[in-house]
Amino acid sequence: MRRVTFSRNYTLSLSRTCQCYCKYCAFATHQAHIRSPEEVEGLLDEALKRNAKELLVLTGERPEINPVVAAKLAEWGHEDFTSYVVWSCERALERGMLPHTNIGVLERDDLARLREAPRPPASSRSRLRAGSWLALARLSRSRSNRWKRWLSCTGDTGTFRR
Ligand code: SF4
Repeated sequence: MRRVTFSRNYTLSLSRTCQCYCKYCAFATHQAHIRSPEEVEGLLDEALKRNAKELLVLTGERPEINPVVAAKLAEWGHEDFTSYVVWSCERALERGMLPHTNIGVLERDDLARLREAPRPPASSRSRLRAGSWLALARLSRSRSNRWKRWLSCTGDTGTFRR
């Protein structure tokens, strides 16, 4: 007997505002766009209802270069966009979803902040399957190794494109 498994993934387009102008891209905008905390929580609840086990946080690069986006982040208590992404990932973990991100080029410090896997409260931890924690540990290790390989190939420039 052959067992086929899959993990249902939900994509959260947290912000489409981007500092880049890639010609092929239909995702990015240079207008202000960012999901509010209430919208994020609502979308995550919707994902949970659909039995999602993974969350992809997909965004433009450095959306906080837009002053309207930066002002909203400050209003919500975030010093920068990475802080807001971390907050969103924590909300996903609370709901038993394994978050991963695709948010463009980051400084090393930002990567380190994202790599710190937040631990959800005990009340919701049981919803995270053991396999999810294992996947998270593997992901963290593989990203770390990839990061080291990349630095050894290119020299330490302090930035890393995933
Ligand atoms: S960096 Fe990404 S989101 Fe921004 S324009 Fe390029 S492909 Fe689009």
